[in-house]
Amino acid sequence: MSKTDQQSGLTLEALGWTAELENSFAALRERQWVPGRVVAEDKHHYVVFSPHGALTGRVAGRLLHSAKTPAELPKVGDWVALTPYPREEKALIHQVLPRQTVLSRKLPGRETAEQVLVANVALAFVVQSADERFNPRLLERYLLMITEGGIRPVVALNKCDLCASPDELAAQAAAAAPAAPVLMVSAKTGRGIRQLAQLIRPRETVVFIGPSGVGKSSLINRLYGEEIAATAEVRESDLKGRHTTAWRELIVLPNGGLVIDTPGMREFHLWTRAASLRDAFPEIVELETACKFTRCSHTAEKNCAVLAAVAQGRLSPERHQSFLKLKRELEYLEKAGRVRRRKDGGRPGDYLASHPAE
Ligand code: GDP
Ligand code: ZN
Repeated sequence: MSKTDQQSGLTLEALGWTAELENSFAALRERQWVPGRVVAEDKHHYVVFSPHGALTGRVAGRLLHSAKTPAELPKVGDWVALTPYPREEKALIHQVLPRQTVLSRKLPGRETAEQVLVANVALAFVVQSADERFNPRLLERYLLMITEGGIRPVVALNKCDLCASPDELAAQAAAAAPAAPVLMVSAKTGRGIRQLAQLIRPRETVVFIGPSGVGKSSLINRLYGEEIAATAEVRESDLKGRHTTAWRELIVLPNGGLVIDTPGMREFHLWTRAASLRDAFPEIVELETACKFTRCSHTAEKNCAVLAAVAQGRLSPERHQSFLKLKRELEYLEKAGRVRRRKDGGRPGDYLASHPAE
């Protein structure tokens, strides 16, 4: 263990490095490369944690030129293979290891370019405020993006101290997010914070996403407890006066969980595929097995089990409409040639799509 490593107290294992990752790294070690994890990024630099401590990373020319899209370059959360230059606290990044999960959005101004926000995240907390700004439709869109990337979603309705009818709101959220646990929390009073913390396992990486002002930073501060103020200083000294506007950061919680806090996640365009549409609406997938027509659009057909469920009050009209709207968008984009059909053996109708902004 190097001096810097002992100083920072961070090992690769603490950042989520596993025996499996180590095995997959064997061939790269033969090239004298070492593993590291990207913890921050700005326009020109990466901050990479390695067995030699925190290093300023640069992408090797070969990787830069061989990358066909920006999505293939290192992102926060990525495991990479690098050559360390510990004396200068620098590193040359040669390769990005295969990503276990990915949170992506559409690149602004381009039709189908994928922008990876963060990689190798296990859990995403979708935060909304428990007030009049609560928006179940927006919740559905976030959940699509998250499940698309292989990440487990949790819904956190914050500011429940301001909410007159928290049970009602929780029920609405549960209806919009049938596959995700829903927590009522308050960063102000501390309600629900322990339950939220218990969902974060040591060495697992989590993110908080949601509109600005819902209390993401406050929740992270709460989780971190008193130590957060000290961290802010460490973070700044890590970056040593380099551009700090667009960089993203990784926080180690007292229980060993890792929080990546990325300002860039606040606005996004959905980047999703139809498989996730099904994941987001499991009750409709179940209902439609009873539709008379296999290709039922659930809009006007006879013996449509989905329409019947709406008529009988077993499925809310909002859920039905929201499903139809997202499905229409996907179909429109497919016709307009803005989506790629999956060629990797996905289910029929699976495709990659970009959504218009909310
Ligand atoms: P972010 O933009 O999502 O990171 O939101 P912030 O954490 O900056 O919080 C936005 C505002 O909401 C701040 O004024 C917070 O003090 C306030 N806030 C955050 N959590 C709570 C809460 O649980 N209850 C109340 N009443 N206010 C909160
Ligand atoms: Zn139907």
